[in-house]
Amino acid sequence: MTAQETLAGIAEAVSVCTKCALHHSRKHGVPGEGPPNAEIMFIGEGPGFHENEQGRPFVGAAGQLLDSLLAGAGLNRAEVWITNVVKCRPPANRDPLPEEIDVCTRSYLDAQLRLINPPIIVTLGRISMGKYLPGAKIGDVHGQMRRVGDRHVIAMYHPAAALRQPSLKPVLEADFARLPALLKQARLAHEKMGAQPRTAGPEPDDPKQLSMF
Ligand code: URA
Ligand code: SF4
Repeated sequence: MTAQETLAGIAEAVSVCTKCALHHSRKHGVPGEGPPNAEIMFIGEGPGFHENEQGRPFVGAAGQLLDSLLAGAGLNRAEVWITNVVKCRPPANRDPLPEEIDVCTRSYLDAQLRLINPPIIVTLGRISMGKYLPGAKIGDVHGQMRRVGDRHVIAMYHPAAALRQPSLKPVLEADFARLPALLKQARLAHEKMGAQPRTAGPEPDDPKQLSMF
């Protein structure tokens, strides 16, 4: 079975999962999406209203802000993996409970990470940060990169937090503006660790694309 097929199987399992109480508020499960060879995985908290309607991650207001932050960092959605720690919408967008996060990540996110094996994880918000940088405070570590096992983890504020609290927006933008430099640093570190460089999505210097101009 290819990674793509296994990922599709995970998505299928999410759509009918009843392992935690969040399945009661699910219209569509939101397993996440992206290319199976993505270099970066963005991990948010959980689906909101629009994500639950559409079954896709970050498609509401926070998603629009994420798209523009990605563009500012020279990335596009099609080349990264985007998902959440819980795959079903918490009622009234409450924080997912520790036990919901625990069962959902053990069932799905951990498997997605093993399959895609991205060298870089960007956490969006406190909740996903807590899984990879336990004990860290977002106010202290936002925009910074830490090595965790054989991955690099960059903690960012959640785009929804920046929409609720406008003073956070320039901070989030500044952190994303530093992302290309951090990615470069992480790639070098991974090459030193003996990893093969990876590409995901269309190559920016793909001659077929250049010939269009
Ligand atoms: N907020 C999240 O944490 N995840 C989404 O998919 C959308 C909004
Ligand atoms: Fe299953 Fe995760 Fe949905 Fe809970 S949030 S029902 S564990 S898919």
